[in-house]
Amino acid sequence: MATPNRPIELRSDTKTKPSEGMRQAMASAEVGDDHVGECPTTRQLCERMADLMGKEQAMFLPSGTMCNELSIRMHCGPGDEIILHESAHPLHFETGAPAGLSGAMVRTVTGPRGQFDAAAVEAALRYPDQYSPRSRLIEVEQTANLGGGSVWPLAKLQEVAAVGRRHGLALHMDGARLLNAVVASGVPAADFARDYDSVWIDLTKGLGAPVGAVLAGTAAFIKDAKRWRQMFGGAMRQAGIVAAAGLYALDHNVERLAEDHANARLLAELIVGLPGVQVVPDEIDTNLVFFDLADDLPDADETSARLREHAVLIGAMGPRRLRAVTHLDVTESEIRRAADRLAQVLSD
Ligand SMILES: *Cc1c(COP(=O)(O)O)cnc(C)c1O
Repeated sequence: MATPNRPIELRSDTKTKPSEGMRQAMASAEVGDDHVGECPTTRQLCERMADLMGKEQAMFLPSGTMCNELSIRMHCGPGDEIILHESAHPLHFETGAPAGLSGAMVRTVTGPRGQFDAAAVEAALRYPDQYSPRSRLIEVEQTANLGGGSVWPLAKLQEVAAVGRRHGLALHMDGARLLNAVVASGVPAADFARDYDSVWIDLTKGLGAPVGAVLAGTAAFIKDAKRWRQMFGGAMRQAGIVAAAGLYALDHNVERLAEDHANARLLAELIVGLPGVQVVPDEIDTNLVFFDLADDLPDADETSARLREHAVLIGAMGPRRLRAVTHLDVTESEIRRAADRLAQVLSD
């Protein structure tokens, strides 16, 4: 619901609030005990999500972080090594959980825009001897969050997976924003996820639901994952109340992600000409706009604070780096206004 003078919220697509229609779907959801698979709404969501991701089964979890960490726990044991990009979410935003919950090591690889290639994986693989950790899992992020919301090309995902398979590694896809990649590229989610053993989608980012994420894999993987879910404390009872928001989001909030992408591109185009602002509009694949401020401008924290005084919320992501995120609660005219206010703040 639009309130006059509401701040323009560009800190994250997690800030989206359930719409009126979504709330009605939640209020009228049929529910049962999801611990034992008796919640019809949750089952329906999981069936649709499994289909969408091209997997046999899926499971509803409270958060994307739990999808990552539960998968890592299932794929890895103590001393096993995960190959992932140096900007990957489990490395920076999950409080050390790969070590804390799974005893796993992380081996970072690099590459432009949050992505890496088959050669980088080859170079990171451990030689299997009695001294080395065991290379066990490859993790990719589609889209790559700190990579600027970049979309991995399908061929690159397939090449990386092929190396992993050849060496007996498991493959995990963090698909927090997988549907942004789908809408931006036209490639079906199932194609992106085909070679990956576990894959998940967040309902609380651009999809606009209040709670939850859905993890998919083979029937055997999901059966086992239900034991781990219980151990992690992530099994829910009448989960259909929140799963209904996910179903509503699949019906109403997927295709419209294209608007968010257009707004992100527009924002980059509006600010690229501002003195001292560095951004590459052509690299805005989806809904994340990272931009950098030159040394003669105020730093990111100060710029963020000044923007806040002008009712524009944009988060600092580094000393001179900011991130603006577009989503269903921000309109094109708000994007134009946000760009104007940034210009004003930087010229003051
Ligand atoms: C947000 C996010 C997560 C974590 O999801 P939550 O639902 O917030 O726990 C994981 N990976 C990526 C790439 C994300 O953007």
